[in-house]
Amino acid sequence: MAVEKEKVTMLHGAGGLVMHNFVKEHVVKSFGDLALSAEVPLEAMDDAAVVGDIVFKSDSHAVKPIFFPGGDIGRLSVSGTVNDISALGAEPYALALGLILEEGLPLDDLDHILDSMRQTLIEAGVSIVTGDTKVVEKGNLAGCVMNVSGIGKRSAALENNLQIVKQYRPNFSARWTLDSNLAVGDKIILSGTIGDHGLAVLSAQRGLNFGSNIVSDVKPLNKVIQRVMCEIGGVVTMKDPTRGGLADVLNEFSEKSQIGILLQEDKIPIRKDVAVACEMLGLDPLEIGNEGKMLFGVVPQKAEEALTFLTQTGEGKNAQIIGEVTDAFKGVAMQTIVGGKRIIARPIGDPVPRIC
Ligand code: MG
Repeated sequence: MAVEKEKVTMLHGAGGLVMHNFVKEHVVKSFGDLALSAEVPLEAMDDAAVVGDIVFKSDSHAVKPIFFPGGDIGRLSVSGTVNDISALGAEPYALALGLILEEGLPLDDLDHILDSMRQTLIEAGVSIVTGDTKVVEKGNLAGCVMNVSGIGKRSAALENNLQIVKQYRPNFSARWTLDSNLAVGDKIILSGTIGDHGLAVLSAQRGLNFGSNIVSDVKPLNKVIQRVMCEIGGVVTMKDPTRGGLADVLNEFSEKSQIGILLQEDKIPIRKDVAVACEMLGLDPLEIGNEGKMLFGVVPQKAEEALTFLTQTGEGKNAQIIGEVTDAFKGVAMQTIVGGKRIIARPIGDPVPRIC
């Protein structure tokens, strides 16, 4: 009898533990040792790589459907790459677009997507400078998939930010806002409500109506990030809670910084309709992907100031300090509203497929 060979499954692309291990054991294993010159190399598995003083990122999008409440694959692709470059503290400035179109995609739809990308690029203040187009036979692409790669550079805002971190933590030596930078006492700030993107795409996939208007939060965050670093400072790390949601990203912080994170459930911003829809569907909002939110790790002395600043911006108006870094335990735990403590494990994968 033939032994069934292991095959790629949807979970391999769903964020979370299965994808993390898959990327480590297959992709990083193949190339990790070749990237010796990178300051932040492939095996760091951070939001982007650092080569010299350039931050470099590539991100593909295969969201299904390509139009969803609050956004589309074009806005998602630009925002995803811009936000990942920004998460390292860099200022994104040039992008490349790889378009893979499915035969039969209406040209009107494509133009709509390109126009949406153009608007997002203007919002972010970046441009697409090169790219490539391919067409594949009609199949199961849902219209198109795309890759946006990009580069970012150091900025005065980042230098100012790191100087302020060093005022409070003299031994801080990182040149970028990496996942591994957290220390005991740092506060975790979340820039807004969770679950909006995942549920907006899910509603479009399944034709569900949650009795309200849940729209994706997809947006570029580079400008607000540069402003926080320039005007407040003290940010040691950032990460956007995309696939796998807060649960995945916080566990990544915890592993790479070798610290514990204690969350306060009552501080985690979530729209009432999103919470109700999650409960109806049996989904954990902590594991659902977002596309317009950022987690900031901030030195305690600057956390309140950073929060006040964020709440005065459009991107961060619902921001909250949701937790704190501790050495009392490793991993992530949450003080629940009812009074207990719950372990927040790394999810196996995002419960909603093809959200990005
Ligand atoms: Mg990211």
